Amino acid sequence: MRTPLVAGNWKMHGSRTENASLVRSLLELLRPEYRAEVLVCPPFPYLLETGRQLKDTDVALGAQSVCAEAQGAFTGEVSAAMLRDVGCRYVLVGHSERRQLYGESDALVARKFVVAQANGLIPVLCVGETLDEREGGQTLTVVSRQLEAVLSVAGVAALGTAVIAYEPVWAIGTGHTASGEQAQEVHAMIRGKVAGLDATIGSSVRILYGGSVKASSARELFAMPDIDGGLVGGASLKADEFARICAAAG
Ligand code: PEP
Repeated sequence: MRTPLVAGNWKMHGSRTENASLVRSLLELLRPEYRAEVLVCPPFPYLLETGRQLKDTDVALGAQSVCAEAQGAFTGEVSAAMLRDVGCRYVLVGHSERRQLYGESDALVARKFVVAQANGLIPVLCVGETLDEREGGQTLTVVSRQLEAVLSVAGVAALGTAVIAYEPVWAIGTGHTASGEQAQEVHAMIRGKVAGLDATIGSSVRILYGGSVKASSARELFAMPDIDGGLVGGASLKADEFARICAAAG
């Protein structure tokens, strides 16, 4: 049985005051009976303080990106060891905004995945097609390629301690959520591909859906057999909305 995971990607939003109030409200709203594991990913400068607020709670802390190098002269970068040091358990790798706006290639994403795991972090590997790729019938090919880039470097066993997030680029921040069927088709392909290499990991790896998830769409998405929770951007900045998405996953 896979425990659902609902992850909030705060992107470049928030302030110390806003974050403290968001987390306080969220902790008040989350109920022990929600079966989902909950994760929040604040911007780097707020990790330590948010982590302190989450201490002794069941909500996990994650980062939104990581440097592919272990340490050294990489001005402006943040290493996986540093993320561990400030209490992160998870880190997003390959988010479409990193791929599209900062030119992160499949190969770089694979290196980030490996360095994250080498430092005890659980990578959340984000994959997904653009609108042009979907309209060109390339969805499964693109997502397979992004997955294979990691499998070829890290091996299937690495997915035993990782999470995959399918995030169609056309659905991120646009208000256009994929339908349950559209998402399920891709999730089933991903799980089938992993299961073809290792049946146990195929059935245990958590595959999240991301892309304009709201409380109103979460239940339909999370009811799909291969959707194990969500990666939530905009709606994770509103405690009540995010808590209702967590409830839907449970
Ligand atoms: C995301 O940032 O991963 C995301 C899915 O954003 P949104 O929920 O705002 O579409």
